[in-house]
Amino acid sequence: MTAPTLSTWENRAKTLKIEGRAFIDGKYTAAIEGQTFDCLSPIDGRLLAKIASCTDADANRAVEVARTTFESGVWSRMPPGERKKVMIAFADLLNRHAEELALLETLDMGKPISDSLNIDLPGTVDALSWSGEAIDKVYDEVAPTSEDQLGLVTREPVGVVVAIVPWNFPLMMAAWKLGPSLATGNSVILKPSERSPLTAIRIAQLAVEAGIPRGVLNVLPGYGHTVGKALALHMDVDTVVFTGSTRIAKQLLAYSGESNMKRIWLEAGGKSPNIVFADAPDLQAAAEAAAWAIAFNQGEVCTAGSRLLVERSIKEKFLPLVIEALKAWKPGNPLDPDTNIGALVDAQQLNNVLSYIESGHAEGAKLVVGGKRTLQETGGTYIEPTIFDGVNNAMKIAQEEIFGPVLSVIAFDTVEEAIEIANDTPYGLAAALWTSNITKAHKTARALRAGSVWVNQYDAGDMTAPFGGFKQSGNGRDKSLHAFDKYTELKSTWIKLQ
Ligand code: NAD
Repeated sequence: MTAPTLSTWENRAKTLKIEGRAFIDGKYTAAIEGQTFDCLSPIDGRLLAKIASCTDADANRAVEVARTTFESGVWSRMPPGERKKVMIAFADLLNRHAEELALLETLDMGKPISDSLNIDLPGTVDALSWSGEAIDKVYDEVAPTSEDQLGLVTREPVGVVVAIVPWNFPLMMAAWKLGPSLATGNSVILKPSERSPLTAIRIAQLAVEAGIPRGVLNVLPGYGHTVGKALALHMDVDTVVFTGSTRIAKQLLAYSGESNMKRIWLEAGGKSPNIVFADAPDLQAAAEAAAWAIAFNQGEVCTAGSRLLVERSIKEKFLPLVIEALKAWKPGNPLDPDTNIGALVDAQQLNNVLSYIESGHAEGAKLVVGGKRTLQETGGTYIEPTIFDGVNNAMKIAQEEIFGPVLSVIAFDTVEEAIEIANDTPYGLAAALWTSNITKAHKTARALRAGSVWVNQYDAGDMTAPFGGFKQSGNGRDKSLHAFDKYTELKSTWIKLQ
């Protein structure tokens, strides 16, 4: 089969049927109050669909359905080996719809179609199948008690789980939550970002087609401050799992305290340092990785390597290599399979990134590449990959998450100084370091307050290892068996042996 070309994708986009309604109890349904909002493509500003704008009433209905389904046991008490088969069927079905889903993702949030197809979709399928595969291989425990006791430590699904997800990897972030929450037997309400709801809405139907009983997976599109808040304050929701900004993560903790103390698990923002020591094994590879780390997915990545810490003695040699490597990253039509940077998600995000660029100028950083909006004639929201040199870690562009392709270059002189700068933000999601010295690598990795540390590479990871943040980057972990902790309660049962 030949790979689709730009014109194939454009033609498919013209005829694609897009669903914008909520999905509750196995059926698409308009929002109860009848409101909708427009879903515009950041590629060219065209209207893709009218989306149901769910409110409290829809939240109440979905929670009731999820609770009833959970209590019925149709999914929660299904034998793990059976749930496994359904989860794998779900993953397989998404894989068969990979091109359709990739197209929806790209039209909706502007990322390159090649990324949607080769990164987001495989990552989504893997998250679902890996969690499904695991569920009939995890055992409960027997406690080492005295002779006259039998102490059972068992895991039970928490019940009704709300998953609130962002727009940067809409489907994959959802799948990191759906894999373990569904595999462990919960009923789930997925609240996609209002800026990228299309794939979440579509997969709800595919879940039912794959054999997930109706009512187990419900999707409520809408705004965070309306339906998101209503779900997070709901007295009958047991857990909220969230990926998004630190600002909203903090609000969710407050909602929990104001309501039923539901469990809140947070994957939030980042301002990750990428530290290049003078003894890096391969400066060219480090430069290419530094460019990738800020340009991939338009810089709209929680783990973006947005602070490049370079040992002063090599900075003059290294920075030109990064500038050269970044030339390979050119914004273009996301539907073109050769494009590696697409559009930012919307005009609001574009303005946000531009205002950070202004602040970089105002605080005295030196712009060395990019800095401007581009491809304006398309009607889309594109920006040039940008590098500021001479950044001080106290500047706004070094402290705040920009969520766009804007790199801050900061010089350091010693290992201790590099570690101090690296840890000096409210975040702790990820960090990378480049050195040939194994002791320096281990010592620095230990000292970095981050949930993921990469040595002589940027952004390795798969379903086998946990992912999440220290400090204000969140709590709990996605991926790996550790993720199951978020979706299960531990029960200790004591049996007296006469
Ligand atoms: P956001 O916090 O604005 O929104 C995230 C979700 O929360 C959306 O679905 C939104 O509708 C919802 N929401 C907003 N207000 C709400 C409220 N009051 N109550 C309930 N829900 C509400 O984040 P975003 O702009 O969509 O995504 C970008 C952020 O996500 C960045 O900070 C990025 O670092 C973070 N992110 C983190 C990870 C990770 O794994 N740590 C991964 C991807 C993205």
